[in-house]
Amino acid sequence: MIDSARLGLPDFAAGSVWLVGAGPGDPGLLTGLALHALARADAIVYDALVDPRILALGREEATREDAGKRGGRPSPRQPDISARLIRLARDGKRVLRLKGGDPMVFGRGGEEALALAEAGIPFRIVPGITAGIGGLAYAGIPLTHRDINSAVTLVTGHVGDGGVADTRDWEAIARGAPVLVLYMGLKHLDAIAARLIAAGRDPAEPMAIVSRATTASQLVWLSTLGAAAAAAAQGIEPPAVIVIGAVARLHETLDWFQPGETR
Ligand code: SAH
Repeated sequence: MIDSARLGLPDFAAGSVWLVGAGPGDPGLLTGLALHALARADAIVYDALVDPRILALGREEATREDAGKRGGRPSPRQPDISARLIRLARDGKRVLRLKGGDPMVFGRGGEEALALAEAGIPFRIVPGITAGIGGLAYAGIPLTHRDINSAVTLVTGHVGDGGVADTRDWEAIARGAPVLVLYMGLKHLDAIAARLIAAGRDPAEPMAIVSRATTASQLVWLSTLGAAAAAAAQGIEPPAVIVIGAVARLHETLDWFQPGETR
């Protein structure tokens, strides 16, 4: 795998938890620390978005738990997951908490780290490539581009009650940065686009939807904010990240990734 000693990678101590980002899909986007942790973990607790090929990189003897399916419930409560991590660590395991993308970007990594800190469990945070940056790079879309934007807003379209974030200040978001990157936004894209346009964003503004970014089934739809309803109605497969702003149009010229070449 990798030469951990030569890279000076830290020891994965028994009884500790590593919160590790697995990136958006392509196993080639794993970090050295993520590979190091996979090669040593006794217990792997993973999220639905983690690619099976990445899980297969773990030791054969390691236990693997789908954090999304524990206890037969479709969506376990966050405290249950944190409690499970603490239990495994107290049992003396090297616990690898593997999350899609980056654990600290809409990944509840902060909440799990807080629970570990409170319980006195040693932990380490290993950043991963987040979908809203690396996923867009695979669609040939830069997050920032000279003459287009010097700021970006990362925002989630998901809200606890399933509604369109009446609590979120879409007017301020619309006025904020020239480029908006929407996570978990597919379901409410129509309503979010309407809010942004009502708050002054141009309906002709380019918008790209990148579905299953970095995987063999990556698809990119280039559209406009005003046509969001039509775009959302196309049955686009989640997970998808949505970028609104002039950078989206660079996809036309910079579309380098050939999903077919990914094995
Ligand atoms: N921690 C993750 C985000 C988790 S929230 C990260 O840093 O990437 C889940 C959302 O992430 C999805 O709704 C989608 O918007 C985005 N996402 C994750 N993986 C993706 C992928 N391969 N392609 C497109 N979007 C993805």
